[in-house]
Amino acid sequence: MKIERSSLCHSDLSVIDGSRIRPLPMALGHEAAGTVTKVGTGVNDVQIGDHVVLVFVPSCGKCRACNAGRPAPCHRGADANTSGDLLHGEALLRSPAGERINHHLGVSAFSEYAVVARESLVVIDKDVPFDIAAMFGCAALTGIGAVLNTAQVSAGETVIVFGLGAVGLMAVMAAAGIAGTTVLAIDPLAEKQELALRCGADHAAGPADAADLVAAHTDGGADVAVEAVGSGKVMETCLGLLARGGALVSVGLPHPDQTITTQALQFAGQGKRLLGSYMGDSVPSRDIPL
Ligand SMILES: [Zn+2]
Ligand SMILES: [Zn+2]
Repeated sequence: MKIERSSLCHSDLSVIDGSRIRPLPMALGHEAAGTVTKVGTGVNDVQIGDHVVLVFVPSCGKCRACNAGRPAPCHRGADANTSGDLLHGEALLRSPAGERINHHLGVSAFSEYAVVARESLVVIDKDVPFDIAAMFGCAALTGIGAVLNTAQVSAGETVIVFGLGAVGLMAVMAAAGIAGTTVLAIDPLAEKQELALRCGADHAAGPADAADLVAAHTDGGADVAVEAVGSGKVMETCLGLLARGGALVSVGLPHPDQTITTQALQFAGQGKRLLGSYMGDSVPSRDIPL
């Protein structure tokens, strides 16, 4: 397929800085949209010329997670991604000298053309611009999915989002689209706070003012905190800002050396929940069209 647009996601940077350990050398890029230029044997439901969004978990459709309707934790997809292979076999990329180059998340979109598994794409309408479509493959699935699928935010709840990159802003938009919610957006950069307000946040502030914001706009804490920074310290802060029964949704990718320290009693004693959200617990073939 021809890659039409590919954006730089923080998870690409996480491979570069070692937060995400992957086999090297690797061709990065995983948030992209493109046009199908060739179709492999056995693929009957994709046509040459189709516009597609690439998906960074090529779920197998056969494992227990896939059969349960939760393809994001598919272990076959995770194994292929961890080893730098495609879902159905070995990496196909080679350097001019013939050296193996690993695929990033089955996509490797920082290229003009890519070979991907059928499971790594979703066909989209041709009237969606490619630069917007690209973001649906990672930021939209991850941020919107964290709110709708993982936290299952209900009408009237208060949602605080830490980290206003693409994923955080998608979470803000998803939460703001639910009736009666109050959305609080936190980031050190004033321009990102401004962007969050334009995306539907009710209030925005820097991290130092997060506790005051929660005190002023909730009755005893936030119902849901979305951590889109990838910081153990911010996760600890989020837990402290939750109401009884509230949920922390961990979305950002902390460095593997990071740990969290928090009061153990708050989970059983106050009903707080800590929910990990990979790819927003999304079903790409359902959620990208949605
Ligand atoms: Zn990404
Ligand atoms: Zn599977």
